[in-house]
Amino acid sequence: MATLTVFEAGYCTHIACMALRGAGFSVCRFPARAWLIETARGRWLWDTGYASHFLDHTRHGVFAWYRRVTPVHFNAGDALAWQLRERGLSANDLTAVILSHFHGDHIAGLRDLQGAPTCLSGAGWNATRSLRGIRALRKGFVPGLIPPDFETSMTAVETFDRVALPAELAPFTHAYAVPGSDGELLIVELPGHAAGHLGAFVATAQGWVMLASDAAWSPAAYRNLVGPSRLTHAIMDDATQYYDTLHKLNQLDRQKNVKILLTHEGAL
Ligand SMILES: [Zn+2]
Repeated sequence: MATLTVFEAGYCTHIACMALRGAGFSVCRFPARAWLIETARGRWLWDTGYASHFLDHTRHGVFAWYRRVTPVHFNAGDALAWQLRERGLSANDLTAVILSHFHGDHIAGLRDLQGAPTCLSGAGWNATRSLRGIRALRKGFVPGLIPPDFETSMTAVETFDRVALPAELAPFTHAYAVPGSDGELLIVELPGHAAGHLGAFVATAQGWVMLASDAAWSPAAYRNLVGPSRLTHAIMDDATQYYDTLHKLNQLDRQKNVKILLTHEGAL
């Protein structure tokens, strides 16, 4: 069975109701989490959180707006590469880094993890890779965070075997089986939040866990089917798909077969 280890690599702050409509105007802390997923035959990292590269690449110019909208709190010791090193792990010990999507708070640590292959949504990457300037900013993508040779070491999850999911994971019916995970790590599309936004089902000794990334910022969002503020809709990839995904999480949660983990939950 797979084991999951959670990390927090920095956090940002913003107003509660931006993340959850009606949640008020208090300033809340949204941790940037990453997970280490270990099975008998592999070790995958789910996202990277913030890293010093995020601060470097959002200091000036158009991308400085990114930090103005979501002020970032990050110390050198928060870097995921540093936290992995403290556990005796380096990029070479990772089977792959899986990116849930291409927002800065999920990919900023890539430059610290060069040498590890990357898995991602091929469709999402194709929609994102050439964005620059204001068009990139509007999609939460900071091109400078992408390491050189990135495209030579990446694999699109769409090339993985597509498998049927057990009934207990309904309404999700199919997933991409991560090679070498013996069916313990299964990737699903959770469209709406960002281009190529992915989640994963992980089979642990305690049962199924879903890494739902940024499909919601609070469990209250999928339990009560409440989205973020209308302002936040402007940066969503597709609002209709976002609410479809939220409904799916709502159904999954009501069946109580799966523990759902969100990257930024905790504040609300
Ligand atoms: Zn995001």
